[in-house]
Amino acid sequence: MPDAVSDASDAGARIVMEGLTKRFPGADVPAVDGVDLDIQGGEFMTLLGPSGSGKTTTLNMIAGFEAVSSGRIALDGADIARLPAYRRNLGMVFQNYALFPHLSAAENVAFPLRQRGLGKAEIARRVADALELVHLGGHGERLPSQLSGGQQQRVALARAVVFEPRALLLDEPLGALDKKLRESLQLEIARLHRELGITFVFVTHDQDEALALSDRIAVFRDGRIEQAGTPAELYETPASRFVATFLGDSNVFTGRVRDGLLDTGWCGLRVPAPAPGGPVALVVRPEHLRLAASERAGENVLSATVTDVVYQGAFRRVLVRFDGGGAGQVRDAAGASVAVGERVEVTWATDAGVLVPDEQRPVA
Ligand code: ADP
Ligand code: MG
Repeated sequence: MPDAVSDASDAGARIVMEGLTKRFPGADVPAVDGVDLDIQGGEFMTLLGPSGSGKTTTLNMIAGFEAVSSGRIALDGADIARLPAYRRNLGMVFQNYALFPHLSAAENVAFPLRQRGLGKAEIARRVADALELVHLGGHGERLPSQLSGGQQQRVALARAVVFEPRALLLDEPLGALDKKLRESLQLEIARLHRELGITFVFVTHDQDEALALSDRIAVFRDGRIEQAGTPAELYETPASRFVATFLGDSNVFTGRVRDGLLDTGWCGLRVPAPAPGGPVALVVRPEHLRLAASERAGENVLSATVTDVVYQGAFRRVLVRFDGGGAGQVRDAAGASVAVGERVEVTWATDAGVLVPDEQRPVA
């Protein structure tokens, strides 16, 4: 076991979890249940999932705030199970800023450097650089109460990176901010990741945030990773109905495949091959559906009635009810004028759909 995790001059730490499990005393089921994840040095990895799925507990085990029940975590190949949090050299940012209210922004940022016993001049230089990095140069003397929520979170980011950690762990850091501010801080976090080049492990329940920021996303469900992959992999080839519906909007048709057709009980749909046996869900993204006057060869076509048209600026979301059952939505960029109550034909290319096993468990 290493004495402490050493400073590396190159990219960030590789973080490997194997069979990582956390059982809280008295709980019926583990909060984290056999998580395997290999986070590359310098990677932006997002842990995405609904509330209670085990994201924070996983992050806290990496940080050293929570003991591991079984399994292991390695930082650059070294097991860190018994290394206390302060020796892991990992930066941490929380949703609620967690700044010291009686200390100025600069004193907050200086705190981890004082803990490490750095000299006065060195501290002053590094604090100035870190505040500059988050565009708060000039605001160092202010107390947290004199800063906006977005500025406080920038101070927290500066404090988390000022000691040059080899990875930054962020637990819903933008959760307390309104939408506009959240989007601008997302860009800041992406820039910080590019400039620092260290590993980021970012927790969120917000799928748009995950898609926008991540090199890879691990989708959590009930303490397990349901699927991990790049945003495009997860969006285009979800492995389960849960992942398909958690990430992005989708049309879902369920049933069983017989003779190359999905029998939904109310229609037969062409599906891409190969089809898994048993109950399946056909997932089709709204941008792959078209409102068309007539069907093209090899495509699916369903008759429907428009139930809602939602203007979204660049496109319209057309909500429909298919004849025979089920609601659907079409992302209509063409701007053809359809009205509520109108009869339409909805079509899509067979290979635009993704077939996944249908799940017996309810989808959150
Ligand atoms: P998330 O961050 O994805 O919302 P958490 O990791 O916070 O999820 O929680 C996962 C599960 O563990 C939840 O069921 C939660 O209630 C439980 N849990 C979290 N912390 C504790 C704790 N200190 N004691 C007991 N149960 C906990
Ligand atoms: Mg959490």
